[in-house]
Amino acid sequence: MSKMRFFALQELANRKPLEVTPPSGKLSDYYGSHVFDLKKMQEYLPREAYKAVTDAIDKGTPISREVADLVANGMKSWAKSLGVTHYTHWFQPLTDGTAEKHDGFIELGDEGGVIERFSGKLLVQQEPDASSFPNGGIRNTFEARGYTAWDVSSPAFVVDDTLCIPTIFISYTGEALDYKTPLLKALAAVDRAATDVCQLFDKNVTRVFANLGWEQEYFLVDLALYNARPDLCLTGRTLMGHSSAKDQQLEDHYFGSIPPRVTAFMKELEMECHKLGIPVKTRHNEVAPNQFELAPIFENVNLANDHNQLVMDLMKRIARKHNFAVLLHEKPYQGVNGSGKHNNWSLCTDTGVNLFAPGRNPKGNMLFLTFLVNVLMMVYKNQDLLRASIMSAGNSHRLGANEAPPAILSIFLGKQLSGILDEITRQVGDSKMTAEEKTTLKLGIGRIPEILLDTTDRNRTSPFAFTGNRFEFRAAGSSANCAAAMIAINAAMANQLNEFKASVDQLMEGGMGKDEAIFRVLKETIIASEPIRFEGDGYSGQWKEEAARRGLTNIRHVPEALMHFVDNQSKAVLIGEHIFNETELNSRLEVELEKYTMKVQIESRVLGDLAINHIVPTAVIYQNRLLENLRGLRETFTSEEYDVLSADRKELIREISHRVTAIKKLVRDMIEARKVANHLPHYKDRAFAYEESVRPFLDEIRDHIDHLEMEIDDEIWPLPNCYQTVMLNACEASPESKSQQEILHYVQDDRAKR
Ligand code: ADP
Ligand code: MG
Repeated sequence: MSKMRFFALQELANRKPLEVTPPSGKLSDYYGSHVFDLKKMQEYLPREAYKAVTDAIDKGTPISREVADLVANGMKSWAKSLGVTHYTHWFQPLTDGTAEKHDGFIELGDEGGVIERFSGKLLVQQEPDASSFPNGGIRNTFEARGYTAWDVSSPAFVVDDTLCIPTIFISYTGEALDYKTPLLKALAAVDRAATDVCQLFDKNVTRVFANLGWEQEYFLVDLALYNARPDLCLTGRTLMGHSSAKDQQLEDHYFGSIPPRVTAFMKELEMECHKLGIPVKTRHNEVAPNQFELAPIFENVNLANDHNQLVMDLMKRIARKHNFAVLLHEKPYQGVNGSGKHNNWSLCTDTGVNLFAPGRNPKGNMLFLTFLVNVLMMVYKNQDLLRASIMSAGNSHRLGANEAPPAILSIFLGKQLSGILDEITRQVGDSKMTAEEKTTLKLGIGRIPEILLDTTDRNRTSPFAFTGNRFEFRAAGSSANCAAAMIAINAAMANQLNEFKASVDQLMEGGMGKDEAIFRVLKETIIASEPIRFEGDGYSGQWKEEAARRGLTNIRHVPEALMHFVDNQSKAVLIGEHIFNETELNSRLEVELEKYTMKVQIESRVLGDLAINHIVPTAVIYQNRLLENLRGLRETFTSEEYDVLSADRKELIREISHRVTAIKKLVRDMIEARKVANHLPHYKDRAFAYEESVRPFLDEIRDHIDHLEMEIDDEIWPLPNCYQTVMLNACEASPESKSQQEILHYVQDDRAKR
């Protein structure tokens, strides 16, 4: 056994669950204790400042410098009561995480000595260097500054000794360099468009909010074993390693009892979330070994997304304390389920109506149907934009694999609801509707709530499923910023609703009654969007063929999928609804393509190094042992006996030699392919070259290594096996942590069973 593996396993053997002491008092006492929420604002701000902030939140009115000074002062007093010494503008650049630069409150006083100061100016705006973040060529070299600006709608919070202020991040020339800026614009666009449509039904509606409930899937692995796998540390996934004899086939992990070490981690994570006002609620085991899920109660999209970003950060930190590494990658292990982040999305009016839930009366049901049908059309028309918004190097391993939504977009409504839509298309004829026809139709629509009440329809294979009062976008990846999907969905919905409203208005201007005009446009929309509705098994091969017949797109090629950010329909939505300007959209594409290139490049380099420095030498050592063995056999036996006894070993030596030679050649060719790709002048061509001529090497090299792993003596294999990194549960079966000896036995036992 290699030293690295030995120590990793030894450490694992000594792990016990950490003691977690909850804060004193009930959950409701400490919930939100670290958030500068409305209650604290009321306590710490003068009345006029409090009013100005709530107006800014509710109506988007600007905040004056004087008021900002008052707010900053109040924030500082509150933060100091928690022992805070620093503040930071917390923002979401186009990387895989958040960014923060901490500054102390400390300043030199006029009379000598130091004072603690936090002014409105510092609260409202800062100037980080934009050139150090992905900017897709927006930055001019002579002007590298960027600005962060306070997002009043998301409350400040405290982590450790630092006051964190959620901000947007833009370039000196005003272009967005983050996820939050376009997200806020998309939310404003859908608010306007949806309010306009609601007004057809109810004049009291003045605002529409989008909600998001994310479900975060993740893996936990022991820190020691993680540290012994350079591929996990550097790329977030295992680039080699055959799958375990037992993984998820017995279906014994999903909703299974949670191991004590993991429970301790979850408890601490939940406590920290609750202090930060993140309403996490659900935790359970997921399908794959050591895969878990965490989900909060839904909130408005902007806040929910800030919370998801914060949670991903907290997870990593708290996991370390518990000697775990958390894997947020979409596919850390080949052969078992990957991780997604379902985005549950709904629209809700300021009168308290969920627009994706049937109403209490026929009018409410019409409103519901209108929004439902517009979602169908939105997804149908914007399949490519939605796919582009969730496509990434990591997620591409999930999409189209047999445990995850396919790269084909479709919507699952359930049989009954589909039936109602079909009825509308039948009932609304070409001529003017009679009063009787309208009544029949409305009666049918009136039945929706009962119908939905007994639908227990659930379709786990649909990438965009209607689940009773919301849509669930299941194709999003576990490591992604939800904003990417939420920008696309809400902008596309705004665009669709605007078109719907324009069509209804046009008919009404031509003299048609409102109800009839709505029915007519609904009918057309239902018919036009029909190909996107699919009730069957989204993972099946037949669906791929059927989808192709329907003209739905199915793109697994990452750069090709990403290029749809700038196709005509996406431009109509993203530029047309003023979410991005042309420069911003192009820069986004460039950032995504470059990110893809870099990720594949890193994977390729890590795999190449591991193959040449770890795997090939190990194979040669083992081969020499076999050769030594052959020499011994020859000395011991007659040549006839020798021929019989040595045949299998010769075969193995031959096989190992072939694989070693193949690996060395593949790595050389892969390096050549990288060189060619790296020399291409345009980022688009580089991404395509990485997808088409570098990435295929990863699987080919892996295949040889995985065979060698099974052929070579486990004693000398240099890395922990994939199944060892996820065998935590087995080690924890007994309440006392197992001895090192027992663990080694377990490993050997498991090997014997393979
Ligand atoms: P599942 O069966 O898909 O696991 P859950 O009950 O765990 O469903 O809920 C998943 C997420 O959906 C939670 O975050 C929940 O708050 C959210 N959710 C529920 N209702 C809505 C809604 N109307 N809008 C948005 N999200 C919602
Ligand atoms: Mg779900």
